[in-house]
Amino acid sequence: MVHRSPIFRHVMAAALAAGLGPLANAVPAKAAPTKSNPHPSVILITIDTLRADHVGCYGAEAVKTPTLDGLARDGVVFERAISQVPLTWPSHAVILTGTYPFQNGVQDFTGQPLAPQFRSVAQSFKQAGYATGAVVSAFVLDRSWGLGRGFDFYDDAFSAETFQKKDIGLVDRRAEESIDHAIAWLKKTPRRPFFLWLHLYDPHSPYDPPEPYRSEYRSHPYDGEIAYADHELGRLMAWLKQNKLYDSSVIVALSDHGESLGEHGEDEHGFFVYNATVHVPLIVKPPAGSGIQAQRRRDPVETAAVAPSLLQLAGVKDSIQTQFQTPSMFAAAGARDAAYSETFYPFSSFGWSPLRALETGRYHYIEAPQPELYDMVADPEEKTNRAGEQTATVAVLEGKLQQRLKVNPFAAKTSAVTDAKLNPDAAEKLRALGYMAYHSPVGDAVVGSGQADPKEKLWEFNAILKATDAFQIGDDEKAKALLAAVREKDPDIYIVAFLLGETALRRQNWEEAATELKKCLELNPNFDQAMTGLARALDKLGNPSEARQWLDRALKFNSQNYRVWYELGHLESRTDKPAAVRAYEKAITIQPNFAPVRRDLGMLQFQQQNYSEAAEHLGKAADLGLDEAPLFNFLGISYSRTDRLQKAVATYQRALKLDPDYAEAHLNLGFAYQRLGRAEQAGKEYDQACRLDDKLCRFVPGHGR
Ligand SMILES: [Zn+2]
Repeated sequence: MVHRSPIFRHVMAAALAAGLGPLANAVPAKAAPTKSNPHPSVILITIDTLRADHVGCYGAEAVKTPTLDGLARDGVVFERAISQVPLTWPSHAVILTGTYPFQNGVQDFTGQPLAPQFRSVAQSFKQAGYATGAVVSAFVLDRSWGLGRGFDFYDDAFSAETFQKKDIGLVDRRAEESIDHAIAWLKKTPRRPFFLWLHLYDPHSPYDPPEPYRSEYRSHPYDGEIAYADHELGRLMAWLKQNKLYDSSVIVALSDHGESLGEHGEDEHGFFVYNATVHVPLIVKPPAGSGIQAQRRRDPVETAAVAPSLLQLAGVKDSIQTQFQTPSMFAAAGARDAAYSETFYPFSSFGWSPLRALETGRYHYIEAPQPELYDMVADPEEKTNRAGEQTATVAVLEGKLQQRLKVNPFAAKTSAVTDAKLNPDAAEKLRALGYMAYHSPVGDAVVGSGQADPKEKLWEFNAILKATDAFQIGDDEKAKALLAAVREKDPDIYIVAFLLGETALRRQNWEEAATELKKCLELNPNFDQAMTGLARALDKLGNPSEARQWLDRALKFNSQNYRVWYELGHLESRTDKPAAVRAYEKAITIQPNFAPVRRDLGMLQFQQQNYSEAAEHLGKAADLGLDEAPLFNFLGISYSRTDRLQKAVATYQRALKLDPDYAEAHLNLGFAYQRLGRAEQAGKEYDQACRLDDKLCRFVPGHGR
């Protein structure tokens, strides 16, 4: 379903045909703070996955966005804003650092965090005496990726602990909660200029707006999410106005990328770099007295220009300005004449070709194995590829693109990025958000033979996405049929074997899991996630020595993969308990909040009668949200054995709440009551235990006498 307004396209086309370039949109060169307001507060709002043409002030008619439209009336609307990368985390790294993805190394979500030498505008504002706060709404922007630097307050709330406790629901949150947190922070912030970055995630899939938007936008729920996010944003604007902060502040609203909604065969974003996903809304409301008039600009601008523009409008000078790779949107010399974008997602996760593109006011050129050129005036929907006939234009734009790519003052510092490995914890959360998060180390043979063009692989990509969805709802038959078809077309694609192997593991089909994961490792020999799963399958099949070989190999490749240490501990626990304890402890050092390893280490300590250590780890597993009756039973015994009887009672009661017919827990609770001198309650528990399981009767004090 596509809601791109035809009226908007006419307006656009007319403007472009009239040759309105950057100069026609010139603004006062000295767009700068005034004496009475030397350092205005700055609010940066990023609304995830928001297509420009689904915003009222960009011509959308099917969705109500009064808040953004209001900002547009008071500010500068950039009609041709281009995101440098259609993926959440890399795009935000661009916005906050003013550098390009190929420079800062954050090219997809499977890489490592932003390298420490990259400065964020938050650091610049902090240095200038601003209070700095961020409220982000999805795990992809969790502080662990490196964007927390410079913020006094970074409200992510997707810590491993929360994640384990509350399950996958908390890998993102709705606008209502984020806006509440933003307002609460503003209320607490002392009277000095502030820099607030607010990120809202609602328009990102799945499209599931709350009422009344769910009903009102039933046939186009993506718009319902937009209308909802805009409505919530309205509360923040109202609060700013009530507190006399609206006029005086710089307010910038934009999106990190769009959403394809089926155009070009792509449903969401990240795979291609067409305008459906790289053209974003960008509105800048300047502070009162800046001299910048409310207006609409049609020159192409990049989201990399946001950070330089924020500093300029706030009158802040900082060393980050030497890091910026593009001037402010309000610079006297004018912005760039072409906007860059790229995606490495097809490459990093599947081994297909990356895509790079350059958009001028007139043309959109996409560098791919089969290059593409679109005339944005005649063909704004990018339906007719003119690369074959307009070879001279292609050559010019390819030359410009290569010039761009040559500029990399950070090259030496980010070269390690190619070795990045996906941390398994991050992979799990990313998958909970619906991402196909894998990291495919592409072999030299593949690179040498030339990578496939993503547009030739679209069918495979969509089939894999559909298969993942089908597995998630338990429709294995459909998923397997889809993957079989992909495999027939492309026998070398390792993700198919990996998905089949992972699912077989979850379904406890150990034979099938081992077969598929071995196949996966033949196609992608360095894939440590597959090695871990294969080891578990082999162990279950009674082959622990081969299982161990795979774990050793996985550790050689990625010694920080705590799941490998966990599996190793499990393997050792049968024959060498001290070695098992060491392996589990290693896993905990890497990831202290992985609940299953806490549980299993606690049980191992329990078996060795180390009750104090057992209580510590089992207690931590319970705190992390493992809700298992036996866990509470053994934790209760550990407390009892270390003379913490009140705690033992409460813990047995938790076990019984989960499983009221748990005979051992009744018996143990009876013992604890007895030691506390509560004979009557003890008697009741003994009776229950004996009634539920007569084998336990002989343990009841005085029984049979
Ligand atoms: Zn995003």
